[in-house]
Amino acid sequence: MTESIGTICVQGGWRPGDGEPRQVPIYQNTTWKYDTSEHMGRLFDLEESGYFYTRLANPTNDAVAAKIAALEGGTAAMLTSSGQAANFFAVFNIAGAGDHVVASSAIYGGTYNLFAHTMARMGLECTFVDPHCTDEELAAAFRPNTKCVFGETIANPALAVLDIERFAAAAHAHGVPLIVDNTFPTPVLCRPIEWGADIVTHSTTKYMDGHGASVGGVIVDAGTFDWNAHADKFPGLTTPDESYHGVVYTERFGLEGAFITKATAQLMRDLGSIQAPQNAFLINLGLESLHLRMARHAANGRAVAEHLAAHPKVAWVRHPSLAGDSEYALAEKYLPEGSCGVVSFGVAGGRAAAETFMANLKLAQIATHVADARTCVLHPANATHRQMNDAELEAAGITPDLIRLSCGIEDAVDLIADIDQALAAVE
Ligand code: PLP
Repeated sequence: MTESIGTICVQGGWRPGDGEPRQVPIYQNTTWKYDTSEHMGRLFDLEESGYFYTRLANPTNDAVAAKIAALEGGTAAMLTSSGQAANFFAVFNIAGAGDHVVASSAIYGGTYNLFAHTMARMGLECTFVDPHCTDEELAAAFRPNTKCVFGETIANPALAVLDIERFAAAAHAHGVPLIVDNTFPTPVLCRPIEWGADIVTHSTTKYMDGHGASVGGVIVDAGTFDWNAHADKFPGLTTPDESYHGVVYTERFGLEGAFITKATAQLMRDLGSIQAPQNAFLINLGLESLHLRMARHAANGRAVAEHLAAHPKVAWVRHPSLAGDSEYALAEKYLPEGSCGVVSFGVAGGRAAAETFMANLKLAQIATHVADARTCVLHPANATHRQMNDAELEAAGITPDLIRLSCGIEDAVDLIADIDQALAAVE
């Protein structure tokens, strides 16, 4: 039976048997006991599925990963300790020293650092492209050693919307998968796999958890990218893994299981970064209301954006669902039911006006976090980007007046009243 998103949010991943706990149990253990060494050997050889050490797999994590895989329409998923780990593992599972990645330039700053600096130190090069570049510019970014394309459905904090179909077509034309970080819309508002994405990642720290309670990430595989058709590019999946008893992942686990099994058996084994089962439990609590919260986040974001756009003390507003926004057409296509709760805007009067506005907010709280049930707000020029002068900020696309407001799920009328009284304090 095919179930709808809301039903999967509530019941997906864990269907208890007779007399079993209704809530996903937390397997708070590192290891499992077996009667014979032979049995354990079969698990180590991946000949039988089962658990032996939580760094590789844990039933709590597996239940939550299965729910997220179902939400995204994928075949397999793996939880990671953070969104950073998810994006690193998703790329590093198919690319390494001497390889190359094409990435949208409109991505979260931490991911940009990972690709531009840390991966570069590992010998993995990245070419960044404007998400709105022409088809020719996109094609020109590929090299013979390109192994994947990466972008964010809605970029944090630029709020650019990725043309997923166009990026997927370019990736596939060059024989590589498209990886999409779907953190901001979540599968409730956009399912990138339906538009051609091959692998989807999340910082579950954001809307999925939703309560600012636990850091986490997830990688979902659509199970559709044909690694064998491009076997020369992806030997790690299509030839024997000597570090794992010569297993050929595509042969043993098929297209639907190869990517996540390799990421688990190899990367999680060697690099760690498993999500704590306790955190997986907390994320699952968040997932149970994700469909309700996302509708409210998106509605609040849009209502606040519309109010700001009509306010005389606001210089500009960015929100993908705001009519007239540069991303509006793409948002109508990919995010017809709403985009997210994050709005960025500039207070007329520049940096000083932004500072006065921030100082006068009462309900919206200053935090580096976004995508939380509670409205939070950040003035990057005075926080994450405070080491930059105004000219450097402009070059980075972060104007000194920019305020990033992450609308929570409170009542919009109260968020707007808070904004109005803080704007009233601006000269
Ligand atoms: N991807 C996106 C879109 C993000 O916004 C973030 C963090 O803000 C990350 C990845 C990194 O996630 P985490 O902070 O869980 O490591």
